[in-house]
Amino acid sequence: MTSVNRQITLAARPVGFPKESDFTLVESPIPTPGDGQFLVRVAYVSVDPYMRGRLSDRKSYADPVQLGDVMVGGGVGEVVESKHPDFAKGDIVQGSYGWQAYAVSNGGGDTVRVDPGLAPISTSLGILGMPGLSAYFGLLDICAPKEGETVFVSGAAGAVGSLVGQIAKIKGCYVVGSAGSDEKVEHLVNDLGFDDAFNYKNVEKYHRKLREVCPRGIDVYFDNVGGALTDGVILNLNLFGRISLCGQISQYNLEQTEMGPRMLGVLIGLNAKVEGFIVSRYHARYNEGLEQLSKWMKEGKIQYRENIVEGIENTPAAFIGMLNGQNTGKQLVKVT
Ligand code: NAP
Repeated sequence: MTSVNRQITLAARPVGFPKESDFTLVESPIPTPGDGQFLVRVAYVSVDPYMRGRLSDRKSYADPVQLGDVMVGGGVGEVVESKHPDFAKGDIVQGSYGWQAYAVSNGGGDTVRVDPGLAPISTSLGILGMPGLSAYFGLLDICAPKEGETVFVSGAAGAVGSLVGQIAKIKGCYVVGSAGSDEKVEHLVNDLGFDDAFNYKNVEKYHRKLREVCPRGIDVYFDNVGGALTDGVILNLNLFGRISLCGQISQYNLEQTEMGPRMLGVLIGLNAKVEGFIVSRYHARYNEGLEQLSKWMKEGKIQYRENIVEGIENTPAAFIGMLNGQNTGKQLVKVT
């Protein structure tokens, strides 16, 4: 085992779109676990849209990363040394290990023991992890889609969106998605079973396009992107429509808050529901979600893709690439 840890720290707070120079690769000694702790050799690091919020100095639902600190993020890897009674060398664990090759953990909080026999361990950061659970609870708990209803999902070819559409199909819905390239659109329809999809980058008037692809209106909207596309959805929402606000990625890198038409009044007449969520609110029900997602996976009812970049030093590039839409499915970094 090497004695050097490789970490990515925050060098500067990005203004607008993040740059690779906002991050620094740092080498430091591998930490030694104390009593009640274990050392993890991280195999995969996750890069996720929420991390953009942590780069800002404004506190939202979580604290910002401080300049010079290791970037936050989920990881999965093997316990290589343990002084913890419940974790042994060789265990596979997933938790908030940050953008680094080795991490010490006390096994608390969000540590999850991963069964490598169930699926590749990388899935604990994707379909069988935080994004998968966001899709599962954000769609089923908040929107309760019914058979025959129309479900529209934006950001449909990503980690969360691709699963939302597949779950909605399992529930017997008419499913339409939007994504940022023609290849992604083909993937949604040809591989994932979406009924229709479109490349939002080729559309001028979203409300017109949505009227065309969702001829019976939209009953359920799973919003990953926000902005003008969401305005277009509201104009096509049906009576008693439900909107699950999962993410607003089109707004994350803006230097000035975008002003749009004020659409909330439309929702009154529709008796519509709009509800935001942070997936951790479902923590107590994670096992329920994971059992169902694993079952659907084994039955071949849901599939997933991973976009894997090699090398911890390439984590900033992978993060920026994900924000730019280079991923189809879950964006990961393979550390070792
Ligand atoms: P992802 O979809 O796998 O990756 C991000 C995708 O966003 C990119 O691939 C890109 O795809 C798209 N995108 C980038 N800029 C865009 C823009 N201006 N307009 C429209 N799409 C844009 O990421 P994810 O992990 O599945 O997350 C999806 C959304 O869910 C994010 O908004 C994230 O913040 C949110 N989220 C929320 C929770 C929660 O607890 N509420 C949990 C997980 C994720 P295109 O090629 O299609 O542009």
